[in-house]
Amino acid sequence: MIVIDDGKMCDICGMQTAIILCDGCGKPLCKECRHFDLWSYGCGHIDPKVFCLTCLNDIEINPWGGKRL
Ligand SMILES: [Zn+2]
Ligand SMILES: [Zn+2]
Repeated sequence: MIVIDDGKMCDICGMQTAIILCDGCGKPLCKECRHFDLWSYGCGHIDPKVFCLTCLNDIEINPWGGKRL
């Protein structure tokens, strides 16, 4: 997760200030457009990820939460 605070606008809706970068495509996302996902690697290790909706559903980017087409 990459938190940003440089006043960029959200790349998805363009309406709100972005607060974080998508872990897939790197686009700035506002709090309305970010989607959290948790990747667990067994042995109790969980890695929180933030994605835009496109990356969230992309199996290539998000193998844990994406949909196979
Ligand atoms: Zn947005
Ligand atoms: Zn993305």
